[in-house]
Amino acid sequence: MHESLTDELEASIRAIPDYPKPGIVFRDITTLLQSPRAFRRSVDALVHPYIGIGLDQIVGIEARGFILGGAIAHQLTAGFVPIRKKGKLPGEKINIAYSLEYGVDQMEMHRDSIQPGEKVLLVDDLIATGGTAEAGVKLLQELGADVVAACFVIDLPDLGGRKKIEALGVPVRTLIEFEGD
Ligand code: AMP
Repeated sequence: MHESLTDELEASIRAIPDYPKPGIVFRDITTLLQSPRAFRRSVDALVHPYIGIGLDQIVGIEARGFILGGAIAHQLTAGFVPIRKKGKLPGEKINIAYSLEYGVDQMEMHRDSIQPGEKVLLVDDLIATGGTAEAGVKLLQELGADVVAACFVIDLPDLGGRKKIEALGVPVRTLIEFEGD
């Protein structure tokens, strides 16, 4: 009944070995999302430091960042802005290439989705190497956003993503760490 948040997250996040390829442990949050209490507590914990500071926009990274970011935006009475994979947004866009393990990909935002000086929070489910979030921060900084923080449910600290984002001047907040990749 009074299970700690850490215990509840450990129990509700499913580890799938060797997905999407051998050697990777995939941290699957669909099991967290389908648990009414774990989902609620995760969103509450992510929201908590930012209550009352006047965030303008919550920016979610496709696709799991949309689910968490939408709930966080609702709770903070902020707007929601998507960062999408290349080719999905219909309006005028800005674009950035970022490295994946093999090759590069691109992500995009609508050019008019953030006004200069707006206070934003970047959201995704997990930070690993930090390459995805770094690209997101760079897009936001190009639009003149004040990136107040980046938050994630899961940190894989062995992969160093947190340091990469903090080096851009953006504080990182996560709810649970798992060793390895
Ligand atoms: P990275 O750019 O290396 O920080 O990777 C972060 C992105 O890839 C996030 O959008 C995650 O959802 C996804 N990701 C990377 N590694 C994992 C993992 N072990 N389990 C689940 N998702 C992962």
